[in-house]
Amino acid sequence: MTALTGGDAATVPFNRPYVTGREAVYMAEAIARGDLSGDGPLTKRASALVAELTGTSSALLTTSCTHALELAGMLLDLRPGDEVIVPSFTFTSTANACVLRGAVPVFADVRPDTLNLDERLLEAAITSRTRAVIVVHYGGVACEMDVITALCRRHGLTLIEDNAHGLGGSYHGRPLGSFGALAAQSFHATKNIQCGEGGALVLGDERFAIRAEILREKGTDRGRFFRGEVDRYRWQDTGSSYLPSELLAGFLLAQLEAFAEIQKRRTAVWAAYDERLALWAAASGVRRPVVPPGAVHPAHLYYLLLPAPEERAGLQRHLAEHGVRSAVHYQPLHDAPAGLRYGRVAPGGCAVTEEVAHRLLRLPLYAGLGADDVDRVVDAVTSYTVGH
Ligand SMILES: *Cc1c(COP(=O)(O)O)cnc(C)c1O
Repeated sequence: MTALTGGDAATVPFNRPYVTGREAVYMAEAIARGDLSGDGPLTKRASALVAELTGTSSALLTTSCTHALELAGMLLDLRPGDEVIVPSFTFTSTANACVLRGAVPVFADVRPDTLNLDERLLEAAITSRTRAVIVVHYGGVACEMDVITALCRRHGLTLIEDNAHGLGGSYHGRPLGSFGALAAQSFHATKNIQCGEGGALVLGDERFAIRAEILREKGTDRGRFFRGEVDRYRWQDTGSSYLPSELLAGFLLAQLEAFAEIQKRRTAVWAAYDERLALWAAASGVRRPVVPPGAVHPAHLYYLLLPAPEERAGLQRHLAEHGVRSAVHYQPLHDAPAGLRYGRVAPGGCAVTEEVAHRLLRLPLYAGLGADDVDRVVDAVTSYTVGH
């Protein structure tokens, strides 16, 4: 116990972006080449790896997952009055992609076990104005994709995956990111693979490929021009600028090449938490993450679901006193100020979302978290007594 409270022990941060060492090498390569704008050779290599990891034929690097979702909204031609079903338990970007097009995010509740969009509530949320469904694989644990893809097909809805957590995860052997017509990846500093700020739009449906390239390049066919397919590029469509520079693409390439190593480290931390906290959790009425059969997750996050909000606050305080930083996750969107203004709640309400949002606590999880740090986190958690 004394080791935990010793003044010499540094704090275990909640996240520390992992760096492989190759990032600077590729960035120097870009600088030496003298062309730092987007879509150069490093971008090409990085996007090929993203496509490979998601089991798709192509991916476009973007400046963020938020921007990839915005691009998806543009590609779908979402219009004012259109409805898009999204979970309430997600990041704001999932809903903003709809709101920016004037569409209405319809907030559906999540399953109490995986905290993923509850597929049993989907059908009742569909109206004549529904255009699309955006799923989030929480923690990279797959949604019930068999049911969701069948439902989207039957109702003619476009499926989009906000796959910010799911790179490297799979559902019955099929990679996450390959189910949607489009999928959005995040390479934010808090994600498994990161370049500070970055993302990708993964094209599960090649029907979108040509237009996606144009919208991402300020509405021009500059991509075709670069490939020598046209002799000049012109304004073809609406669009914006979503290209990361070659500097960031180089940083990202180093990370993607180290994917297996990064995942090995993260998975070891996740497994250690899950195994070593099992007894304490069972005795304390604390729920650990649920991973259904058929879902393989990429160890994006590890959470504990405390029996009551006061216990969540108590554990977070206790961890802080023992030098361990933890974090809560996802304030519900449906009853947030902007959610009330722009969205609508699906039939059935969002009771699970409202409830878990006050009981969930995330533990530190990053590739550079050493065995000593894991010991400290486990000791700090298990020295907390629920119900005191
Ligand atoms: C991180 C995250 C985003 C936003 O990613 P950025 O790359 O920071 O734009 C969107 N959706 C989910 C579910 C996320 O976790």
